[in-house]
Amino acid sequence: MGATEAFASTAEIGHYVDGRRSAGTSGRRQPVFNPATGAIARHVALASAAEVDAAVASAKAAAPAWADTPPLRRARILNAFLGLLNRHRDTLAAMITSEHGKVFSDAQGEVTRGIDVVEFACGIPQLLKGDYTEQVSTGIDNWTVRQPLGVVAGITPFNFPCMVPMWMYPIAIAAGNAFILKPSERDPSASIFMAELLEQAGLPKGVFNVVQGDKAAVDALLVHPDVKALSFVGSTPIARYIYETGARHGKRVQALGGAKNHMVVMPDANLEQTVDALIGSAYGSAGERCMAISVAVLVGDVADRIVPLLAERAVRLVVRNGMENDAEMGPLVTKEALQRVESYIASGVEAGATLAVDGRKLSVPGHEQGFFTGGTLFDHVTPEMKIYREEIFGPVLSCIRVPDFEAALKLVNTHEFGNGVACFTSDGNVAREFARRVEIGMVGINVPIPVPMAWHGFGGWKSSMFGDMNAYGEEGVRFYTRQKSVMQRWPSSTPKGAEFTMPTSK
Ligand code: NAD
Repeated sequence: MGATEAFASTAEIGHYVDGRRSAGTSGRRQPVFNPATGAIARHVALASAAEVDAAVASAKAAAPAWADTPPLRRARILNAFLGLLNRHRDTLAAMITSEHGKVFSDAQGEVTRGIDVVEFACGIPQLLKGDYTEQVSTGIDNWTVRQPLGVVAGITPFNFPCMVPMWMYPIAIAAGNAFILKPSERDPSASIFMAELLEQAGLPKGVFNVVQGDKAAVDALLVHPDVKALSFVGSTPIARYIYETGARHGKRVQALGGAKNHMVVMPDANLEQTVDALIGSAYGSAGERCMAISVAVLVGDVADRIVPLLAERAVRLVVRNGMENDAEMGPLVTKEALQRVESYIASGVEAGATLAVDGRKLSVPGHEQGFFTGGTLFDHVTPEMKIYREEIFGPVLSCIRVPDFEAALKLVNTHEFGNGVACFTSDGNVAREFARRVEIGMVGINVPIPVPMAWHGFGGWKSSMFGDMNAYGEEGVRFYTRQKSVMQRWPSSTPKGAEFTMPTSK
């Protein structure tokens, strides 16, 4: 599928359980929009607790045989899946653009970053290798293995309908679990397409299931006794709810939440590179990225030099239907998202911030009903303003002026969120001090969106993540497995009488 050909299916999106598509039976459904046109493109079924139960039952039935399948054979199926993903990358990207709105080249990048995780998961035989100590005591050996948990589930946000599920299920499946995905109800098509590619790759039925839905489906997963672990990515209030409720029901939980990512710009930063980085990271994907930069912390005299350059670039952003080749920014995901972003802009004006560029009331010719807003730039934002404290999740960049490096660091460190951060400077010592002292999970030095690669793992700090194991990478493998330690002695090795003291190495 080329960049100009949009995903056009109007069929209702149902579930994928036990190796086949199934229509919803709950009687509940909701519209899925094409954000560029504002029109309803299709509907998505919303699962009931009974439909979630059926998916969990299918996964539970499939899990033992899959766990017994040698890791190399599991990896070969993922390797076949990898080939299919590469072949169908543009189909997936078109599905993403047509339901999320992001520009097609950005959607291709999303699919590629998901594929990276599948490539990592193909190395599962190596990743699952255990530890072994011979002769921990005379005649005794001790080793550790990591075994799958059984049925695990993932609940994912609208902003990466392909990549974020792929932070989870390739590793969970490779490690020998059966997986249930509850994707966002705003852009559900990619999930079913991925399920079908997994089936074509040879994955046994029941190992990967998709239940579409909303809070009802999530709540059913949260309390289900057969679901052993939950991975969540989404907004902070829901992440906190998932973490607390899942833990109360005895589950292992990793819950990644929202963000307010700062970029500290030092007076010695390369201005041209910094402007490019701020424009791309604040307005790319219409600011609907958890690693988007939404605050520029301008140190010393750099503010007066950089704000006019940012303003000039923000007004020239090419905002269009994401399927058009020259589009730099597409629409927001829904009308509600558009209203929310524009109401934040109004609140910034009311609070006294300087509105350097106003993106509201942008009209894209031929797409007058689309959910578009332009790039907005605020200057002279202060820490108590709502537009600074809260996540806007739209194309709004707030500039905040500080006198020096210490004030910049303090500002970043006292913010509620701790997902990503960047520092632009030409001074190696400033960069080093920043990376060492900043209280944020993912740090970029002259890199605006430091999303770690597949083998490094992703996770924020503070209110950006609940749980202690990051998504993907080796922490992902640990999350989806549990350690078993085995100690062995054979009767003929060292005959002994009964021992009543704590065993020690002899
Ligand atoms: P969201 O929290 O509204 O929804 C996420 C998931 O939770 C969806 O599957 C949704 O159906 C479900 N959900 C929504 N409300 C629920 C409720 N009351 N009870 C149970 N489940 C519920 O998030 P979103 O709008 O889809 O995504 C945007 C948010 O995700 C932003 O805050 C963004 O920062 C965050 N995000 C974070 C990361 C990260 O890695 N930290 C990555 C991507 C997105």
